[in-house]
Amino acid sequence: MPRTIDTAELIPLIARLCQKACFELGEDVVSALEAALAKEESPYGRDTLKLLIENARYAKAEQIACCHDTGTCVVYLRIGQEVCWSGAPLADAVNEGVRVGYREGYLRKSIVRDPLDRVNTGDNTPCVLHCEIVPGDRVGVTVMPKGGGSENMGCFTTLVPAVGAEGVKDYVLHSLEAAGGKTCPPVIVGVGIGGTMDQCVWLAKKALLRPVGQSHPEPYYAQMERELLERINDLGIGPLGMGGRVTALAVHIETWPCHITALPVAVNLQCHAARHASAEL
Ligand code: SF4
Repeated sequence: MPRTIDTAELIPLIARLCQKACFELGEDVVSALEAALAKEESPYGRDTLKLLIENARYAKAEQIACCHDTGTCVVYLRIGQEVCWSGAPLADAVNEGVRVGYREGYLRKSIVRDPLDRVNTGDNTPCVLHCEIVPGDRVGVTVMPKGGGSENMGCFTTLVPAVGAEGVKDYVLHSLEAAGGKTCPPVIVGVGIGGTMDQCVWLAKKALLRPVGQSHPEPYYAQMERELLERINDLGIGPLGMGGRVTALAVHIETWPCHITALPVAVNLQCHAARHASAEL
């Protein structure tokens, strides 16, 4: 039996999620920052982590943005296959939710209408919308404001399969070295391995939605995540690039089957303002 949902129902929901995400860092993120403070040795690094934790608490208490860069708004819908939509086109309703959320939350508008003429759209739309069809009659909605500093340092390559796991790890480490402090560390490192170019990059971003530090379900990849985290933290970049032991809070790997000729790898970096909020319709 199909379930009909008016797309207008998405507008207040997405508006609320935009604000919640920007105002309230998840408890998993705050706990990871506190754990980082406990192990950071550098005085600058420790002072920086204390400020980041205090900033997150203050933003939540005062319901204000925890970072001035409230990002490109990424919206991810998991749509039950028994759902039928009525009303305005889905993408229009989603963008209206973003428009209302950013306007009423006094969130910075950071989107330009064209990558070369650079005129601000004035309302942070359009968002980047991803939809997946899933079983059931519910709709999962996730809003992920993605700041420019960390997003700008993401990267993708297709390795030759012969380089194997060592080649993948080298690529991830080089990408962190190249990013240095520009990503506002400590970061969460999303790594996509496999798929096609587009799928691989999406895997790397989706990996950032896992609770911070939740391991890959397969022991092989969970071990690779632990090894990469240790080696990234050995780079010494530290909180906000001030030097220190903690450059990353977690490494999250997602994988997908791929072509016999290819070993695609994508890295999507998430700054300490690791914002996302979810709800179900
Ligand atoms: S990279 Fe993150 S923490 Fe740094 S300015 Fe952008 S959104 Fe803010």
